[in-house]
Order: sequence, then structure tokens, then C-alpha cells
Amino acid sequence: MALITCPECERDVSDQAEKCPNCGFPVQDMKQTRDPYEFASDQFDTKPFSPEDEKLRNYGLYSFILAIVSLFLPVPIVDAIIAVVAIVLAVKGLKASRRGFAVAGLVIGILALIGAVTLYASGDYYIGI
Ligand SMILES: [Zn+2]
Repeated sequence: MALITCPECERDVSDQAEKCPNCGFPVQDMKQTRDPYEFASDQFDTKPFSPEDEKLRNYGLYSFILAIVSLFLPVPIVDAIIAVVAIVLAVKGLKASRRGFAVAGLVIGILALIGAVTLYASGDYYIGI
């Protein structure tokens, strides 16, 4: 008898057990598929990871990073441009099976755009080198 690690709660579970005694995760099914990631994606009924999907997820990630940059950069015109790029990337990223970053990028991108316009309207900013 060997111990395997439950992918849900990370406790040691006997490889003879059908389910994790702690959280009920069906470890036996996982052993059969051998690939916990493949198994997890089956469980949550998402598309398997493809290079295309990976690319779309990266759009989401870039969008998120740009949106954050835009949010904290105190130069409205540059902000607005970066925010728009972030929003465009986020919309692309939303097509990925995992789109947490894309959603975050979209929300923060829109906030950053509003922030940039507000900052521009207030005139309370500094453009210089
Ligand atoms: Zn568990």
C-alpha cells in the first residue's frame, strides 16, 4: 500500500482508497487517468489545454499586467492607451478556458481608463521627463 497526495486538500491518502477521506476527492479516478491536470480539466468540464488556449490565456495575463501598470501610472494619455490595449487583450483572453486574468484585466483596464480620463479632466497630473 502506498500513499498518494490528494490534489484537492493535499493530504496523504491511501492509493487503495476510492475517495479522499478528508475532502471526498475521487483519488481512484485520478490514478487511472495518471495526469492530475487532465483529470482536473475533465472534472470542471473545460476544454483541454491547447497551444491556442495557452496563447489566449497569455493575452489575459498581459492584459492584467498592463491594466495594473495603467492604473498606477500618473500620466493620463499614456494610461488611456495602455488601458485600451489591456481591454482589447482582455477581450481576446476571455475566449480561453481559464480566464481569471482576462476578467481581472478587463475590470482593472476599464477602471484604469476611467481613472485616466478623470485624471486628465482634473488637470492634476504631471507630464515631463
Ligand atoms: Zn482530499
